[in-house]
Amino acid sequence: MTISKVGVVGAGTMGNGIAQVCAAAGFQVTLVDVSTEAIERGLSAVAGSLERLVKKEKLGTADKEATLAHIKGTTRYSDLAGADLVIEAATEKEAIKLRILGEVDGLLAPAAIIATNTSSISITRLAAATGRPDRFIGMHFFNPVPLMTLVELIPGLQTSDDTRTTIEAFATRIGKTAIVARNSPGFAVNRILCPMINEAVFALQEGLASAEEIDRGMMLGCSHPIGPLALADLIGLDTLLSVMEVFYQGFKDSKYRPAPLLAEMVDAGWLGRKSGRGFYQYG
Ligand code: NAD
Repeated sequence: MTISKVGVVGAGTMGNGIAQVCAAAGFQVTLVDVSTEAIERGLSAVAGSLERLVKKEKLGTADKEATLAHIKGTTRYSDLAGADLVIEAATEKEAIKLRILGEVDGLLAPAAIIATNTSSISITRLAAATGRPDRFIGMHFFNPVPLMTLVELIPGLQTSDDTRTTIEAFATRIGKTAIVARNSPGFAVNRILCPMINEAVFALQEGLASAEEIDRGMMLGCSHPIGPLALADLIGLDTLLSVMEVFYQGFKDSKYRPAPLLAEMVDAGWLGRKSGRGFYQYG
């Protein structure tokens, strides 16, 4: 099938980046969130991101305006009706995703595809909650979406080959390189990344080193471009906690238990960059 209209549900950290890369590739994008404030925040994040590209002379002003003109922000799910592909990028809570998927499934044409950007929840289980499990797939982007070229594709048990090849081609059209991973908590990349970050939080909690030293150690000693605690702030501590909880429940293995400090920081509302405070403070 041909994809020309794309819907994105959730205008947060990931959703606005996904909307941006789809719009930049020439797709008409409808971006849905629960409130006008969330939509305005998302659209202004896109404008800011495009403006930074203009300043770095990687993008012309006309292309910036064209990309912005391709995105329509809305709080009405019904505006998704004509989409060929809807990418769900809302909060990492299964109950929220199930509600959204139920709603979206009922609106779309039978041939349309639904993808989810979940970091950890079973694609097979989410697919089974829709009336189109063969046209459902995991499409896991990386943060920040406009800069990170990887997308992990996760077919569920029911995903058809046709859906997979359509989404592989779509990923290429929006400038991403795809790897395919099996459906398992955290798929391939987060299965490795998130326990590493969680361990860095344990190291901080146990006083092994300061946050700055842990991050500097991993950057200078392991060639990581960003330290694990700074990366946790970028990802969002609530998202990271949800992912570790899914691992812990999914594998029933104590090696995946979330670090208590991570849970306490989420309780305090210290979610990282998006709330202005995490392991570091943001202006
Ligand atoms: P976020 O908290 O920044 O944004 C979530 C957005 O979803 C918010 O704007 C919220 O208002 C919106 N939302 C909640 N309920 C909704 C509903 N019913 N309808 C429409 N919108 C709704 O979260 P995020 O970091 O953008 O994460 C979104 C998804 O992407 C999650 O599944 C997460 O696991 C995944 N993900 C996150 C990262 C990351 O680094 N943050 C990386 C890859 C994948």
